[in-house]
Amino acid sequence: MAKQIPAVVNLAFPNGRKLDVPTGLFIDNKFVPSVEGATIDSINPVTEELLATVSSATEQDIDIAVASSRNAFKTVWGRNFPPVQRGKLLNRLADLLERDAEAFAGLEALDNGKSAQVAREVDLPDSIACIRYYAGWADKIFGQTIEVDDKGLKSASTRVEPFGVCAQIIPWNYNIMMLAWKIGPALAAGCTVILKPSELTPLPALKFSELVAEAGFPPGVFNCVPSYGPIGGAALASHLNVDKVAFTGSTLTGRKIMQAAALSNLKKVTLELGGKSPHIIFESANLKDAATHVTGGIFLNQGQDCSAGSRLYVQASVYDAFLKELKASAEEWTAGYGDNFKEGALGGPLVSKAQRDKVVNYVEGAKEAGASILYGGTKWEGKGWYYLPTIIGDVTPDMKVVKEEVRLIIILFIHHRYSDDLRSSFVGVKIFGPVLVVSKFNTEEEVIELANNTTYGLGAGFHSSDANQCQRVQASLEAGTVWVNQYGLLYNQSPFGGYKQSGIGRELGSYAIDNYTQIKTVLWDYSGGSSQ
Ligand code: ADP
Repeated sequence: MAKQIPAVVNLAFPNGRKLDVPTGLFIDNKFVPSVEGATIDSINPVTEELLATVSSATEQDIDIAVASSRNAFKTVWGRNFPPVQRGKLLNRLADLLERDAEAFAGLEALDNGKSAQVAREVDLPDSIACIRYYAGWADKIFGQTIEVDDKGLKSASTRVEPFGVCAQIIPWNYNIMMLAWKIGPALAAGCTVILKPSELTPLPALKFSELVAEAGFPPGVFNCVPSYGPIGGAALASHLNVDKVAFTGSTLTGRKIMQAAALSNLKKVTLELGGKSPHIIFESANLKDAATHVTGGIFLNQGQDCSAGSRLYVQASVYDAFLKELKASAEEWTAGYGDNFKEGALGGPLVSKAQRDKVVNYVEGAKEAGASILYGGTKWEGKGWYYLPTIIGDVTPDMKVVKEEVRLIIILFIHHRYSDDLRSSFVGVKIFGPVLVVSKFNTEEEVIELANNTTYGLGAGFHSSDANQCQRVQASLEAGTVWVNQYGLLYNQSPFGGYKQSGIGRELGSYAIDNYTQIKTVLWDYSGGSSQ
């Protein structure tokens, strides 16, 4: 049912600060309602109350956004906008985001439920730096000259050209950061972008769209179309006039996007998908230091992080000593119950009730399977979709928590919207909650085997003070990122992406430019016809 909604919603932060956020789809540098009047209700996960109603793109709106994006690529962007100027605009955008960082951190906290402090100290500075990093790349994308003839009468050269119109579908866990990772390389490379934020958290990307217009990007270079995944997301993935789709989210949705791309126009696809990342403590590790990395690696963002270190393996000789350190570190984790804006609160609620209930089901299933709860293990009973930071121990390989997961997948997929895709879901499940599962191991060989025994391969971490062991282990782990004596830190300069079913392609660093460019080979003949 079409609903008339105000063009702007005025939000109030718990500290009394007010912020206007536009509610329309952002197309051609203007906010417009959805043609069919479709809307999305965004809920505050702390209060469980309606935060804002915004327009939701349907197929017709996606067609309009794609046409605008194509037109911009052909006329005012791509070949028609000098690379140096692209860099200048991206730098201006980063400056504006920095100016408004406090407001964006608050908006992330309101819409997603994450800690406002973490958003302010991590999400925003990293996102601003990411846009600046790619601003620097805009005029450093060039090809090669290739000698093919000793006389110099013939040669080959390459041009590195933008793909064109790029759909970018992002999740809800790090709105501004995922947006920056995506638009930075795409706009630097000269592509135009149609960004689809998650239906769970449409507000930060809409507010960001205002900055795009203020920075002076030509209309249509960046369009933003909040929508439900199976509607707007699916329409983008299968659109015949979209040249490339980049996606971050679940493996299940990644499969659908790749399938839609294959069945439509074989648009290029990059996917950054889920993980079940192992985190290993060897006996020579600095246990206290390692414990803080383990808790940060799983509890940050409530475990709603594709590279969260959710499987902990501890060498048997230090198991008891490490668990003591781990619990001490977990006790210091302040979850921000009831107030994710409180200074010092590192956590908040999960993004939605469905997400929270998924965690409840998982932990109850693990309890039934005989695992013991070492810490947490229940939802918070107050208002808000909080789940207590949880450590599940005494997990042995023969207990098959993995098997238990499969049973849970069935329950989850029957009760949730994924039921249509049960068959393709048997790829493991990422819990996406603050739940750490601990197992014991004896030897290095054994733990490498355990760590790699997964269909995922996004991240892996380990702690050891034995330099030879560090060399052996980093090379043996099957993951796109390996953290040694630390966990979770990423740099805009270094690539990030998945082995196995955790993804295709790399984000960040120079590698991300490859995601948005294609190589044209130009063959030259200066011989005037004198040579064959
Ligand atoms: P989650 O289930 O945790 O929300 P998803 O992978 O489904 O994770 O969502 C990540 C992003 O993918 C969101 O923007 C969502 O709207 C989008 N999405 C979901 N389903 C589809 C689909 N079938 N096609 C394209 N995008 C989708």
